Amino acid sequence: MNPVEIITKKRNGNPLSKEEIRWFVNGYVAGRLPDYQMSALLMSIYFQGMEPREMSELTLSMIESGRTLNWQHVPGVKVDKHSTGGVGDKISLILAPLVASAGVPVPMMSGRGLGHTGGTLDKLEAIPGFRIHLTDSEMMQEMQRLGYIMIGQSEDMVPADRMMYALRDVTATVPSIPLICASILSKKKAEGAEALVLDVKCGKGAFLDSHEKTERLAQNLVALGQEMGIETVAILTAMDEPLGNTVGNWLETREAIEALQGKGPSDVMEVVMVLGTQMLVLGKKAKSPEEAQSLLTRMLESGEGLKRFRDMVAFQGGDVNLVDNPDSYPNTPFMKEWLSPEAGYISGIDAFALGMAAIELGAGRMAKEDSLDYGAGFRLHHKTGDFVEKGEPLLTILAGKEDAIQSVQSRLKSVYQFKKEPVKQTPLILKIMDSRGSRAYSA
Ligand code: URA
Repeated sequence: MNPVEIITKKRNGNPLSKEEIRWFVNGYVAGRLPDYQMSALLMSIYFQGMEPREMSELTLSMIESGRTLNWQHVPGVKVDKHSTGGVGDKISLILAPLVASAGVPVPMMSGRGLGHTGGTLDKLEAIPGFRIHLTDSEMMQEMQRLGYIMIGQSEDMVPADRMMYALRDVTATVPSIPLICASILSKKKAEGAEALVLDVKCGKGAFLDSHEKTERLAQNLVALGQEMGIETVAILTAMDEPLGNTVGNWLETREAIEALQGKGPSDVMEVVMVLGTQMLVLGKKAKSPEEAQSLLTRMLESGEGLKRFRDMVAFQGGDVNLVDNPDSYPNTPFMKEWLSPEAGYISGIDAFALGMAAIELGAGRMAKEDSLDYGAGFRLHHKTGDFVEKGEPLLTILAGKEDAIQSVQSRLKSVYQFKKEPVKQTPLILKIMDSRGSRAYSA
């Protein structure tokens, strides 16, 4: 086969055959096809889309590019959660230990930051010593002892997704429904999930720029999940402003630890509870959402979720002193407060713009080889709806380099919007979709 012909076919809007998709994916993973040809194909898929059949073929060839995990010796329905990507989204760090402590096994394989959004692996690696790669016997031991793992893709697990994900991050080809669906479902199938709760983000800080596209993404994810034999539920959640009060790797890990101590911001805890409820029901640990919620609340209040997080950090080589005493994290050298240019009610905090600013600070990558400044990011002092006086601090900028603080300030000018009148709060949880269709969410 000729890669140029395959790229041309997709560029011109024609569907690819199963053989063409497999040949291209296999060739790229084997190193026979270079980054620039895969980038061209990704851009063609971005513009032309894929039929459902092509999407399943792409997912299957990505799964087959590596090996898969098998948890048959771990009792219970294996349930995972995945987010389509947000800003300030530290939900997985809180949810996985909480759900595991309630008795549902969670084999969680996560990704790194992508585009303007953060990644769970980068947040975990902000803890010195933390290992995202474990041997098979370590993974099995941890699943049996703690009921969950939080890992990254090893070289031999879905290498196609690992390589394409890194390329998409730096070629502006992230916001594509078929690419997002194949990326998420290939990882979930390979890690051995039997049921899945998806947090599909809607709004300014999400990858897709309209509610209509986001709903289409959710529908495709649910359909592809079912086709891969994974019972899939999608919850559509608002991502107009960042989740919680922090953006940046260590800042978010620290906020997740505080949430497990029972001090989580209300928006973060609302998302945790809604997703966790669905996970417990899918994992057959609760018969109703009410029963699931009270079980999760008990796990949070008893400290069992926090203990499970601490045990996971210890098992995976991370410094548990930071879980016990987050204040002992090395100070980020440079800090500056960003002051409100006017008095009024905050009517919006642009999550996309803040995510891009976080990259500029060093919390995310501009090129796939970039290393991260784990301490860099933003601590938000106010959220949408708050009244602020002129000159009051809106957020604190933290970075390892003074010039990063200087250069990020021009981006911050467009982040906040203000109104003179009080602002009505909009719902955070928008919809639920599953194999039965789509409906408004009610707990
Ligand atoms: N999360 C993923 O794992 N892949 C995507 O493409 C987007 C979000």
